[in-house]
Amino acid sequence: MDYASIFFGVSFGLIFGSFLNALIYRIPKGIGIFLPRSFCPKCEKTIPWYENIPVLSYIFLRGACSNCKNPIPRQYPIIEAITGLASYLLWPKNFEIFNILNYAFYFSIFCIFITHFLIDLKHKILPNILNLYLGIIFLTFSIMFKNWQFWLYGSLIGVLFPLSVTWLFYLAKKKEGLGMGDIKLFGILGLHLGPMGIIQNIFFSCLGGSLIGFFLILINKLKRESEMPFGPFIILVASLQIFFPKFFESFLKIF
Ligand SMILES: [Zn+2]
Repeated sequence: MDYASIFFGVSFGLIFGSFLNALIYRIPKGIGIFLPRSFCPKCEKTIPWYENIPVLSYIFLRGACSNCKNPIPRQYPIIEAITGLASYLLWPKNFEIFNILNYAFYFSIFCIFITHFLIDLKHKILPNILNLYLGIIFLTFSIMFKNWQFWLYGSLIGVLFPLSVTWLFYLAKKKEGLGMGDIKLFGILGLHLGPMGIIQNIFFSCLGGSLIGFFLILINKLKRESEMPFGPFIILVASLQIFFPKFFESFLKIF
């Protein structure tokens, strides 16, 4: 890989990472995505462009707002750096149309996943708008490259299976197990993962969610009756399936 692709791959990722930070902050609050311009959430000062350079500004400002001196959350440079790295790793080796489409596909998935993950972690919601974009991307690619049974059955299983379990759970306990956002996300992932992939996802995300939930209750970080966001588990498992497909293959070979 030559230096030009490293430079452009990383820079593009850093700029997008900065945009994702804005989305994570703005979508749950219903603030416009491009306007108003970037501002400090504490003192509401508009941030000039030279204080808004991904990662570097955080370092130069020593992690604090130049006006009110309140700390800038560490999440900002971390998301920027991770997105920069992801963009570099996915960056096309040459600019043939297939490679560009491949980059656009996987990088968009990465961006939506990381935004979804953090919004659900902080606010316990999986915004419809992100599910919608994810659905459009998956559906377009599946229609182009996969047979209809694969994505249709994958999506149906992704919705109907968790929905019926949640319904039974509701009848038994009068409490909702999974939120509708989680069920929609399963249905959308089914479009890309297909029937076996989505069953694998449901199994491993439920397993991970229960283990972590149990552990958090054990160490008194979570109350038994309180809700834990479940989207992050779905997204973590889906990321392994999509970006590291060998992971589950080798995992399943152990058994
Ligand atoms: Zn400030």
